[in-house]
Amino acid sequence: MRDVIRRLLGRPDPSELVRQELEKSDLPSAAEMAKLKRELERSNLEIRELTERVEALASSLEALRAERDAALAAAEAAAAVAKPAEPAEPAEPAEPAEPAVVSTPNPKACKAPECDKEPKSKGFCRGHYNAWRKKGLDGFVGPEGLVAHGDQALRVAMKHQGQPVTVTGKKRLTVKVDGTKVDFDVVA
Ligand SMILES: [Zn+2]
Repeated sequence: MRDVIRRLLGRPDPSELVRQELEKSDLPSAAEMAKLKRELERSNLEIRELTERVEALASSLEALRAERDAALAAAEAAAAVAKPAEPAEPAEPAEPAEPAVVSTPNPKACKAPECDKEPKSKGFCRGHYNAWRKKGLDGFVGPEGLVAHGDQALRVAMKHQGQPVTVTGKKRLTVKVDGTKVDFDVVA
């Protein structure tokens, strides 16, 4: 019936007209559309793959960055440990104290002046002790507590025998044994 009409009308089928119009235009054909669609799907797939790879790269970059930061921190810590502390400026050596001038005689030597011999008795060496016992020694209380003073003879307590003694004064004498004033008698 349609063919009849078409023939009658001498005009093509409207759907044919549409097809012809489509072919005249630049619009893609169904085959082309299918191809485009496949390409698009492939592209989408590729994009998805690329996205995944980029994400993987990004995460490994993040890991590398963290690794680098950790390595830097470790290196810094190691450097801080390895670097020896600045050596302290050596302290100025203390000036050695001036040895005190010892005026007292060596206690380990004979107490007679200028004698370094080993003391044997009453703080005298053997020689000075013998000399002291026979006639006394200047500056020391002699045997029996006798002390010579010029042409005078004085006597102090026996306990002072052999101790250093000084006699000062003229009319009134002062006798000091070991620096301490002591009582005395004038015996001659
Ligand atoms: Zn001596």
